[in-house]
Amino acid sequence: MRLRASTDGASLEALRVEYLGKKGRLTGALRALGTLAVSERPVFGQRVNRAKEVLEAALAVRGEELRMRQREAALQGSAVDVTLPGFGAAPGRPHPLTRTLTDICDVLGGMGFTVVEGPEVEDDYHNFEALNMPADHPARDMQDTFFVDDGRVLRTHTSPVQIRVMERQPPPLRIIAPGAVYRNDDDATHSPMFHQVEGLMVDRNVTFAHLKGVLTTFLRKVFERDVSVRLRPSFFPFTEPSAEVDVGCVVCGQSGRQCRVCKGTGWLEILGAGMIDPAVFAHVGYDPEEYSGFAFGVGVERVAMLKYGIDDIRLFYGGDLRFLRQF
Ligand SMILES: [Zn+2]
Repeated sequence: MRLRASTDGASLEALRVEYLGKKGRLTGALRALGTLAVSERPVFGQRVNRAKEVLEAALAVRGEELRMRQREAALQGSAVDVTLPGFGAAPGRPHPLTRTLTDICDVLGGMGFTVVEGPEVEDDYHNFEALNMPADHPARDMQDTFFVDDGRVLRTHTSPVQIRVMERQPPPLRIIAPGAVYRNDDDATHSPMFHQVEGLMVDRNVTFAHLKGVLTTFLRKVFERDVSVRLRPSFFPFTEPSAEVDVGCVVCGQSGRQCRVCKGTGWLEILGAGMIDPAVFAHVGYDPEEYSGFAFGVGVERVAMLKYGIDDIRLFYGGDLRFLRQF
């Protein structure tokens, strides 16, 4: 009974010591042998030894039982069901902005535009002056600039890259300049740092029709549907004429019905563009009589927000995995 009751090695050992240990009951019985009559000794001795053997065997069996049980429990605790589907490593994936930026560069790259980059800390000349915004030009007020020191700024647009390229390279040119730009502005639709892709094409006989054709093809490919494209007259210091470019609302399908995104107009403002102002060509030594060109700038966050229906620009930078995992 006590053998059955001992459920672990320790209680079994206690039992062994109680009977078979140096001061155990059976050992004691053997020691008592001397007190018996000589004739009784062999029989008693045999009985005690027999009992000792039986007990040792029973202890061994029970010990083995307990060890087996322990092993089984250990195996069950760490049981692996090889038929269950695995967890798999969650692979990383591109941030929605990276993805949008890559899409934009891929589409324009396919249309013959080459990617170039420029510094994010820019001098006043390249960020403003060469783009036809002299020191006293009111258009400078439109760009809430972060000033660094000795006349340098965090670039407010990627347009200075086109100046840097034209300075070192004669026409013809077809480039895009993607990258981060900075403005002192912060709310649900503005971030102090955001991303732009600037496009520039210069050659002989480049016309406004080329601009519209390139932008229409580009926007349809980026939004992956046959969006309508509309150009409205606008003003930028470095292009003349200039246009704001709208696409048919990708949320309501241009119906405008109860659409918060396009505010019922059916149109979304998506980028700015225009023919390069001859004054800009003069800064880089291009002959405006021989060459013409167009430039456009598109906000990467703006495209991503419209394409994926995101209503707060801050979601892009918050690092919230619940948001990021949707892409
Ligand atoms: Zn709409």
